[in-house]
Amino acid sequence: MAEAHILIVEDEEDILQLIEYNLLKEGFTAACARTGEEALRLARDEQPDLVLLDLMLPGIDGLEVCRTLRRQPPTAMTPIVMLTAKGEEADIVAGLELGADDYITKPFTPKVLVARIRTVLRRRAAAPVEKDSILRIHGIEIHPGRHEVLVGGKRVELTFTEFRLLQLLAGRPGWVFTRYQIVNAVRGEDYVVTDRAVDVQIVGLRKKLGEAGRYIETVRGVGYRFRD
Ligand code: CA
Repeated sequence: MAEAHILIVEDEEDILQLIEYNLLKEGFTAACARTGEEALRLARDEQPDLVLLDLMLPGIDGLEVCRTLRRQPPTAMTPIVMLTAKGEEADIVAGLELGADDYITKPFTPKVLVARIRTVLRRRAAAPVEKDSILRIHGIEIHPGRHEVLVGGKRVELTFTEFRLLQLLAGRPGWVFTRYQIVNAVRGEDYVVTDRAVDVQIVGLRKKLGEAGRYIETVRGVGYRFRD
């Protein structure tokens, strides 16, 4: 099977060429855009399988490109991996909330970049988890029908909110959720309405899961993820 077609959006020429070289070497095909305007045009014309999107661009910036891609039917579902610099946590959070799939912080090695692209493509290709099917991961069993969680075969008592939180994170392992996304997805009776409340729920959930609690990872400045 042919590798995917990737749209690289990056205004720094040396980084752009390095990425293109490595993707072609791995068998991907690539299109290159140096501005946000060009990115939107190429995304529409070439319908890439994935967009690598630098956030700091001249003209229309990366976040605006992300927002526009998500709004237009041909690219609404196209995976987007943001290329970000250290200290851009606020932009990362904004990008994830606009629907970007993942991000990678510069500087990165070509090996890590290619691995990340393959992971995102694989995740997108995987069938969505059935809402009512039992989820098994890292020795944790989540039974949506019975609202029950087993760790190493032993039942763990969770509140409604903790259960929803675990279901959300474990349902998409490796995926980073921002606190805002968590607040929106998890509306329990013991309400979670603030960032701080999300953090408190996570602490409680980790404690109840015991050893398995370590699979819930904090992504500093961004949110939480269940280890892949
Ligand atoms: Ca840039």
